Amino acid sequence: LYEKSGIIYIRLLSIDNLMIKGGYKMKKITVLGATGSIGMQTVDVVMNHPEQFKITAMAAGYNVAKVEEILAMIDVEYICMVKKEDALYLQEKYPDLKVVYGESGLIEIATLPEIEIVLNAIVGFAGLVPTIEAIKAKKDIALANKETLVVAGHIITELVKEYGVKLLPVDSEHSAIFQSLNGEEHNKIKKIILTASGGSFRDKQRDELAGVTVKEALNHPNWSMGAKITIDSATLFNKGLEVMEAKWLFDVDYDQIEVLIHPESIIHSMVEFVDTSIIGQLGNPDMRLPIQYALTYPERDYLIGGESLDLAKIASLTFKKPDFERFRALALAYQAGKSGGSMPCVLNGANEQANELFRNGKIEFLEIENLVEKALNKHQLVKNPTLEQLIEIDAWARNFVLKEIGED
Ligand code: NAD
Ligand code: MG
Repeated sequence: LYEKSGIIYIRLLSIDNLMIKGGYKMKKITVLGATGSIGMQTVDVVMNHPEQFKITAMAAGYNVAKVEEILAMIDVEYICMVKKEDALYLQEKYPDLKVVYGESGLIEIATLPEIEIVLNAIVGFAGLVPTIEAIKAKKDIALANKETLVVAGHIITELVKEYGVKLLPVDSEHSAIFQSLNGEEHNKIKKIILTASGGSFRDKQRDELAGVTVKEALNHPNWSMGAKITIDSATLFNKGLEVMEAKWLFDVDYDQIEVLIHPESIIHSMVEFVDTSIIGQLGNPDMRLPIQYALTYPERDYLIGGESLDLAKIASLTFKKPDFERFRALALAYQAGKSGGSMPCVLNGANEQANELFRNGKIEFLEIENLVEKALNKHQLVKNPTLEQLIEIDAWARNFVLKEIGED
């Protein structure tokens, strides 16, 4: 029995469920990037299922106030901050907690012995090393941080096999594909149909994109998300990153992944099998569902506060093929993905840097893809890069972008 938004909920559990969920088997979670958009929605999901989940440890970037907001809502045992000053401040204020910082801190909380699953909702390349270390410590991974698979899919997929852990997608499209593949593991996929809302500028022609503002780009029609991914949705680099993410998660070739513009964001993605049957997953745009499914998998549970999809009310769903000249970023992503090796890492690093420069008002919107393209053209492919090489290449790509605009 509990209350949320003024409504009292009563949950009836079967005897079996009571045996499992009544405290006998609590899933302990580390949330990396807890103060972000996905992180806060994860906190919400966990608070709605207190009998099943506990966030034992959480990492945040720089937002101390948001950390304190979370601490007022749930009991956490470990916290990691990026900066030592922030960690010292929190340690003094909350002496019962263990507060760590920096990359070593991230690794520490991602590998704690009592943790079963690490939900990685850090944005960008910074999520890579803690994911690797968590897998090596035999933790299941609920992955929102798509950049990890984009830059190091070859390393991550091998480690997942070697350590026998689960890699559960949180990205809504990939969760949809994952759900569509339930029970189909031995059946042949013809193609994956990755749906895309089209982002903030989906109705604009290419020549209308010059001079668009950061504010306009941040105004996503269907989803409320962190700033970086919202800009990535407007350029369509987000969809490009998701194409690469799908390649690694579902072991398909690039020519088996098709992007389909679907402005309503109701069909979250689909799989076509060799017999032409298409299976997809539908729902209102609500990231708490893929977050929760990654945590409850293979079971399902009530999505508290989730609304049933009313198809009669929506009445029609629309689709169109993306124009690769209009959405240049998508073409660049396929190109980088097909080249493989270190190219996706260059695309990702250059995009992270250019995306940030745009958000800070330093470059125009269309410069983002120009800078990424220049970095890709300049880079000499490394076929099977190691983690150390990826770290260097990522830094090179960011520096290249800064130098191009005279900011190094
Ligand atoms: P966000 O900007 O809202 O949050 C990012 C989080 O990462 C924050 O908690 C921040 O403090 C933390 N962080 C940033 N840099 C860090 C560092 N160096 N060390 C430790 N923590 C750091 O971003 P978001 O929208 O929640 O997205 C997070 C990830 O999930 C991204 O990879 C994004 O592509 C993916 N994703 C997000 C959504 C969404 O709806 N927001 C949907 C699908 C996938
Ligand atoms: Mg997505």
